[in-house]
Amino acid sequence: MRIVCAGGGPAGLYFSIMMKRQDPAHEITVMERNPIGSTYGWGVTYWGNLLDRFHHDDPVTAQAISASSVRWSDGVAHICGERVVHHGDQGFSIGRHRLLDILTQRADDLGVRMRFEEEIESVSQLPEADLIVAGDGVNSRLREHYSAEFGTNVSVGRNKYIWLGTRKVFDSFTFAFVETAHGWIWFYAYGFSSDLSTCIVECSPETWTGLGLDVLPQEDSLALLAELFAEPLDGYPLIGRPDGDGRAQWLNFRTLTNQNWYHGNLVLIGDAAHTTHYSIGAGTKLALEDAVGLADALARHDDLPSALDAYERERKFAVLPFQSAARYSAQWYENIPRYMQLQPERLFALLGQRHSPLLPHLPPQVYYRINQVTEQLTALRRLRGWLGPHLARALHGRSLAG
Ligand SMILES: Cc1cc2nc3c(=O)[nH]c(=O)nc-3n(C[C@H](O)[C@H](O)[C@H](O)COP(=O)(O)OP(=O)(O)OC[C@H]3O[C@@H](n4cnc5c(N)ncnc54)[C@H](O)[C@@H]3O)c2cc1C
Repeated sequence: MRIVCAGGGPAGLYFSIMMKRQDPAHEITVMERNPIGSTYGWGVTYWGNLLDRFHHDDPVTAQAISASSVRWSDGVAHICGERVVHHGDQGFSIGRHRLLDILTQRADDLGVRMRFEEEIESVSQLPEADLIVAGDGVNSRLREHYSAEFGTNVSVGRNKYIWLGTRKVFDSFTFAFVETAHGWIWFYAYGFSSDLSTCIVECSPETWTGLGLDVLPQEDSLALLAELFAEPLDGYPLIGRPDGDGRAQWLNFRTLTNQNWYHGNLVLIGDAAHTTHYSIGAGTKLALEDAVGLADALARHDDLPSALDAYERERKFAVLPFQSAARYSAQWYENIPRYMQLQPERLFALLGQRHSPLLPHLPPQVYYRINQVTEQLTALRRLRGWLGPHLARALHGRSLAG
């Protein structure tokens, strides 16, 4: 099969790897607009079950990703000077640069043709192919050409965010909330290498303009943020971008959905097909799973339309719970004043519940109590499940002895 993939992000690269592993005879070309080794963003998080999946898909890639990832444990929240810890949360993170280096190298080793610095505007620019994969991200040009056929819908989030880095290495997933004269501002941060962490800062548009973040030059706005978050950052500065002109942009998150994921032989994958708010940290995982899903569907079906149909049906269904969780999570942050009256412990507990469809409809204090009771009941049920067989065995033993 001749395959052309627009975009050398996680989705496009992993799909190429999957297809080459299926059959080295596939002719695959990946066309990426950026030079080799350059990308936006800092580190991305993922959870342990994704590593298991990687091992199953391609042990070589899995080992490289595992060796370059860091593991974080616990959740920490700094709320108005108070530090709350939630034990037990565990996850992994890896630098986006490093992840793309690994995938590019592996695709290259398997014989995928990599063409960098090629900006794809339309299908007519592409070499002849049986299958065209649009892995060119949320602003996919290929998708935009056929937005009516794909049934594309974009909704723009209210809050402003900026994706930054810092040399303060967080070993837990860390939140920090600071109240300013213009409203709340907060960050989520996690380490992703021995000397760097991601730090995503977010606030309402009113706080953004109130603090002057819309007009301040970048150096001044980073200095202001570092000052606001001096305590959780331990005085470390914030960094815009690791390369290029070093500038990061304030953006509004765009949640994208498509009614149809393919049109003719053009198929959408990863962020080109769907986005989920960064606060649930699932976009890369879903992009990689799309890649596996598409490769699987192509292996199972002899004709392209059936394969694309199966891919669309299966992956649309699989991403639904993440899309729902992401929407509620984004809304939680957009309605932050509703929760900031709670005591820090309770606020942190409800932060962990932000994906719940029920939470926006109940007073936060009431939801918190219901959640407490439910958790206690679950713990009790677990204890009963564990204790039951032990008790039965003990009683049985006694009656035999008697
Ligand atoms: C602030 C923030 C934090 C995030 N944190 C996490 C996280 O912790 N965990 C997680 O799983 N996900 C996270 N994500 C989401 C994740 O970054 C994306 O979901 C993921 O990168 C999608 O992969 P992709 O390959 O589909 O698209 P992309 O990574 O966007 O890759 C698309 C590629 O296509 C190229 N391209 C674009 N247009 C063209 C063109 N016209 N011609 C040629 N090439 C083109 C781009 O240069 C890029 O290399 C985060 C996102 C944001 C914004």
